Amino acid sequence: MSIIDEVKQRTDIIEVVSQYATLKKAGRTFRALCPFHSEKHPSFFVYPEQQSWHCFGACNTGGDVFSFIMKKESIDFGDALRLLAQKAGVTIPSRFEPEAGKDEKERLYQVNQASSQYFHNLLLNSPVGERAKGYFASRGLSQKTIADFQLGFSLNNWDALKQYLMERGYTESELLTTGLVIEAEAGGTHDRFRNRLMFPIFDIRGRIVGFGARVLDDSLPKYLNSPQTLIFDKSSCLYGINLAAAAIRQQNLVVIVEGYMDVITAHQNGFNNVVASMGTSVTEKQVGTLKRLTKNMALALDADAAGEEAMLRAIGYENTLDAEVKVIILPGGKDPDDVIREDAKIWQNLLEEALPIVDYTFNMVTAELDLNTARDKSLAVDKLLPIIAEMKDTVRQAHYLQKLARLVKVSQRSLEAALGRIKPSQGKRQAKEPSQERVTQALHPLLSSPVEEYCLALLLQYPELKGRDEGLLSEYFENSENREIFTAWQQANDLSSLKDGLDSAIWEHLDSLITRSLPANQIEQKYANCVLRLREKFLRSLEVKRAGVLALEAESGGTAAELAKLEEQGIEVSVQLGEVFTQKSRGSQERRR
Ligand SMILES: [Zn+2]
Repeated sequence: MSIIDEVKQRTDIIEVVSQYATLKKAGRTFRALCPFHSEKHPSFFVYPEQQSWHCFGACNTGGDVFSFIMKKESIDFGDALRLLAQKAGVTIPSRFEPEAGKDEKERLYQVNQASSQYFHNLLLNSPVGERAKGYFASRGLSQKTIADFQLGFSLNNWDALKQYLMERGYTESELLTTGLVIEAEAGGTHDRFRNRLMFPIFDIRGRIVGFGARVLDDSLPKYLNSPQTLIFDKSSCLYGINLAAAAIRQQNLVVIVEGYMDVITAHQNGFNNVVASMGTSVTEKQVGTLKRLTKNMALALDADAAGEEAMLRAIGYENTLDAEVKVIILPGGKDPDDVIREDAKIWQNLLEEALPIVDYTFNMVTAELDLNTARDKSLAVDKLLPIIAEMKDTVRQAHYLQKLARLVKVSQRSLEAALGRIKPSQGKRQAKEPSQERVTQALHPLLSSPVEEYCLALLLQYPELKGRDEGLLSEYFENSENREIFTAWQQANDLSSLKDGLDSAIWEHLDSLITRSLPANQIEQKYANCVLRLREKFLRSLEVKRAGVLALEAESGGTAAELAKLEEQGIEVSVQLGEVFTQKSRGSQERRR
């Protein structure tokens, strides 16, 4: 259970509000003189069943226990959470303490950013950068591309970067932590990257996590990367992801290449859904990142590099992604960079002709065999049948079983029998996933609001929704943590600045929304429906509360003015509800058409 849910579950709003106002029971609610504005007649209500409050007087607003404490103590969400956690006896893990580890990482991002600007500036404006500039020009890169990818150049000097950064107040130990400066065997420290083309590596939030560097001459190693650091983990990085994420989502396809230059040239030619793995094979962590954007992957592989093992791993991702992985076969040892520079149309054709990875593997395996001999037939079955056995989709499985049967000229039935002998191990592995899901679901009893969270997940994962005005208001979110994220989202330009604007106590919740799997189609319509549902929920709840207050007032002889005011509020609410119904019926008519 999240820490926010745990605090909610152990907190009673009646108890908390009682410390700030004298509550009197009134039917199923409690009422008091509003603790936020001065009044003679109580118009402040607390609802124990919903764990919420509402002021029908001058405030005309309400919320949950967090928003009550935030307003009353003039503190932010994180501090309200910490205060309530303390009252409820819930220990907040230290990682949710404000700024835990945040400063150190933040500092590393800053060092990388400053270094990147330094390298970029050297490339563009210094005479020594001419050769590097010449290299990029020979590869046909435009000024804009060089700027978009923040390409740079490092001096042929042992401590130029070190001096530059230390003059700007960074300490030697910080520079060592980023790996930009390294310890020499003979003692002392010096720059890691010297006389190299510099490729800053960004994360999906646009922060520089490390660098790739390439020599200008024939010296070795040809490529050098930042070492593993607090913020750089090569196995989870995807070069170009910061510039590619939107296109990947939009085209519902990611193309994975191997080299930095492949990505850069592809983007310059309008193929914006291209990223590079940071090694020859794609890792589980990289697939995890991509999964949030699309389920469809195409691997552009150098025919020699496409080892059998890499293929088998990639086939495994088909099952993880529950989608098809395709292979783009590059002609005669060429890189995507070469192909695209030669003729972008050829690349386009290769993309269109990409083969499903299983078909490709069939070709690869059988190319070396003589399928007229019994020995090679059985070799082909040994290699291909286990791949077929792993498939989750039974239709696909049947398709490839048939293909294999035709290929080796044996009956499909005998292959099915062989398949049956392989399958049990697979069954065991599959059984795990759904049961885990069920456990997680059971741990979230009624604390969360599915519609609120769905709506936020859409907003967070589809930045293009920001431009759409569906009239979503922060008060439609009953849960303070959701309201908090929505408000921060309205002010932030991207996920990175959004996170920076939020208390670390809310990050766990934010991350769960960012990583939630969502449908990939008709996003705008789903968002519009979602806003409509939130609005309806908000208005209905308000209407029920208001009617309750009106009944109470009428019973206890409220003044005519107060009754009139409540009536007025009621009219406003019903007008708005009417609008919701009109929009809803319009929506369903459009769908029927
Ligand atoms: Zn009030």
